[in-house]
Amino acid sequence: MLVALYDNQFVDMTGETSKNQWYTKMKTGLLICPVCKNKVIPKCGSKNVWHFAHQSQYTCAGLHEAETNYHLMGKKSLFQWMKMKNENLYLEYYLHDIAQRPDIYWSEEKRAIEFQCATLTIDRFMERIFGYQSMRIESDWIFGMKRIKRNSENLYSLQMIDLTAAKKDKSGNLSLNYFCPLKEQFLLLRNILPISQRKVIAEGYTFSSRNLDAHFLLDTLNSRSFENKKRLWNLQKKTWRMTAYKNVSPSIMYVKKVMYFNHRSITLFSPLAGIPSSNYYFFETSPFIWQSHLLFFIERLSSPFNRNQLEKECKRLMDKRIFIERKLPYVKGSFKDAVKGYVNFLESVDRIEKINDSQYKKKKPVPYPKTIDEALELDKIFSNKAVFFDFA
Ligand SMILES: [Zn+2]
Repeated sequence: MLVALYDNQFVDMTGETSKNQWYTKMKTGLLICPVCKNKVIPKCGSKNVWHFAHQSQYTCAGLHEAETNYHLMGKKSLFQWMKMKNENLYLEYYLHDIAQRPDIYWSEEKRAIEFQCATLTIDRFMERIFGYQSMRIESDWIFGMKRIKRNSENLYSLQMIDLTAAKKDKSGNLSLNYFCPLKEQFLLLRNILPISQRKVIAEGYTFSSRNLDAHFLLDTLNSRSFENKKRLWNLQKKTWRMTAYKNVSPSIMYVKKVMYFNHRSITLFSPLAGIPSSNYYFFETSPFIWQSHLLFFIERLSSPFNRNQLEKECKRLMDKRIFIERKLPYVKGSFKDAVKGYVNFLESVDRIEKINDSQYKKKKPVPYPKTIDEALELDKIFSNKAVFFDFA
């Protein structure tokens, strides 16, 4: 940690205090942890960022995880960066009521900023987010750059929980932020389209922290890489077609069976499935799977049908853990919005017709390709009609 109490005053490791001055303070016995009030030792070596350590290894409520040098470095430089233009910032501010200690607390904005490097479980992560929400504190997560890998232009692999922290930017698209303390560089990930648990199509913008203002967190950045994103999406769709037969996840096994009994192969799923329709990411389950299933389900329903019937079917499969809803605590909405977005897509391609707010009439039949070549050709045509590539 970077903050301690000395003679009941907060002191921190971001200033000019020398090594000898820290040791003199320690010898008085008045240098303590602000949370558990036990003595701390200043660690002023040449290898790691200077910090305080508890004298012994008992548990302290203010420490959530062992801090690496990378984390200490990032926390310190993010704090110094934000302090250049903002006031009322507190490093490692302990929120007693929820026993949480955000890396940086911006009291004026009631905003907690966390620099997350270590791996943690989704449950622990949600707990911390809900902790802030319970105090009506806005929270933002900046992830360590080590957690993200760029595979090719517009294609990235992330750690599984990172998407949980996604927020919608001003244009309504998902966004995340990364920081590298070694290069003092930000990577702003914008217009994120999740394509699997860890892979996303997105636009990444790199900025030196010198050139960036702290209000960047929700800024919209739009580029003209739609063609490339469309191409990547279709590439992913091809991967789904080529690999689904050997995939044994519960959702794929289930839909594979449904298709089999309808004399269809999963490889030749309809080009109308696997679409980045509006809000599709509220399902963690792959869009080609849940959408394929809904197409079959609609086929069995009499016309007109109600959107509510589709929601119920999804809920039934979610209860069985066949479909999984994605946890997005910062984004308003639920799987119902994904269903609605998909139904809107089907309407836009003339397969169904809206009667009123929740009722639809069937129109044209759903196309199924006979060969893989035909499938790939149709995928291209229908991806042009997916709304996600239209706006922005
Ligand atoms: Zn402590």
